[in-house]
Amino acid sequence: MGDHTPSGDSADDRLDRIIDEVVAPAAEEVDRAGRFPRESVDALARAGVLGMTVGPDAGGQGAPVADAARVVERLAGACGSTAMVVLMHYAATAVLDAHGPGEIRRAVAKGAHLSTLAFSESGSGSHFWAPLSTAVALPGGRIRLDADKSWVTSAAEADSLVWSSRPLDPGTGGAMTLWLVPGDCPGLRAGAAFDGFGLRGNGSVPVTAREVTVPATARLGADGAGLDIALATALPCFLVLSAAFALGVMESLLTAAAGRLTGTRPAHPGRSQAGRSLTRDAFARLRLRADTTRAFLNDTLATLGEGRPDATLRVLQVKAVAAEAAAEVGDGVMRLCGGSAFRRGLGVERRFRDALASRVMAPTTEALYDFTARAALGLPLLPEPA
Ligand SMILES: Cc1cc2nc3c(=O)[nH]c(=O)nc-3n(C[C@H](O)[C@H](O)[C@H](O)COP(=O)(O)OP(=O)(O)OC[C@H]3O[C@@H](n4cnc5c(N)ncnc54)[C@H](O)[C@@H]3O)c2cc1C
Repeated sequence: MGDHTPSGDSADDRLDRIIDEVVAPAAEEVDRAGRFPRESVDALARAGVLGMTVGPDAGGQGAPVADAARVVERLAGACGSTAMVVLMHYAATAVLDAHGPGEIRRAVAKGAHLSTLAFSESGSGSHFWAPLSTAVALPGGRIRLDADKSWVTSAAEADSLVWSSRPLDPGTGGAMTLWLVPGDCPGLRAGAAFDGFGLRGNGSVPVTAREVTVPATARLGADGAGLDIALATALPCFLVLSAAFALGVMESLLTAAAGRLTGTRPAHPGRSQAGRSLTRDAFARLRLRADTTRAFLNDTLATLGEGRPDATLRVLQVKAVAAEAAAEVGDGVMRLCGGSAFRRGLGVERRFRDALASRVMAPTTEALYDFTARAALGLPLLPEPA
């Protein structure tokens, strides 16, 4: 994010401008109407934000996950829905950049292609590593896909879906195969508009596939290798960016709380809310939750950057640390800001609702605790299939 245009503004400046001029002003209405933030996504695409993680050989900047984390954090502070759309796009792009065709990578790099992950299914719930959807080889080299995907962010808006299925050949020994499925494939149906508790504009709806066919070349990586690919590409990206997302929401909640505490009309002359020691104590506890999350995220990014041996463990832990902190900070700020936060004007209740999404997104906090214990105890990461 350090590159400068001839006029001297950096990528950070451009992102700030888009957030101030496009993303933040639309956030309240995106949430209220539950509509996809198309204008924000388009502005980010034009500014090169959606394409920056693609490798330079396909026209991108090869930006590291640390840069993507800064983008997601800043977006999440303004509009959770926009941040989640970008987050899922970056996670899908991690797979596409490693295994996708050159033309799609170039389109992503140019900002002309929005992607997402279609992993979760009604049959397997949050256990995305055990898909039930099928892939069958047809005569003539085409593949038939059938599935009931339960949640796909940007489903009706994305140009492609990075799609999981059972392997074509059950004999591969793998649990999953990945496919690049165009968003407008005949037989693909996105469900009705998302009516969620939070992230109401992220367009995360069920998608069914009935006799969808794709060419055999749509396969991303080897048959049966999908889980290994997801664990090596999409998952680390998703986990780190989810932590950055939670941090962005926490920071904006704490900013709102600080403004409220220092600006509130004093209950007694000479004493603002910030003058009460119990209030300061409550605020400090929440501030600590955000600051420890930032320290943990920074350490996780350092493990990845330096290739440290504890990188896998940190990556598995960081979303759980951040998601639980965000839920606590959201609840705490709602309490600190009192009745004023309970109505819409402050934007605190919207952020509180957005803050609760991360812990139920797969891998959920419960799954990550299990993974953490398994990694620390030297057990296989995933349970053996029943
Ligand atoms: C806003 C949003 C956007 C999303 N976007 C996408 C997307 O783009 N792509 C995608 O693939 N998915 C997406 N998802 C889906 C998400 O990743 C999860 O798969 C989904 O939320 C799981 O919901 P469920 O009701 O099936 O949960 P369940 O699997 O039924 O789990 C319910 C609860 O039970 C717990 N639980 C489950 N199994 C166990 C166990 N063995 N032990 C202990 N506890 C357990 C879980 O941790 C969870 O808290 C999204 C979800 C949300 C909320």
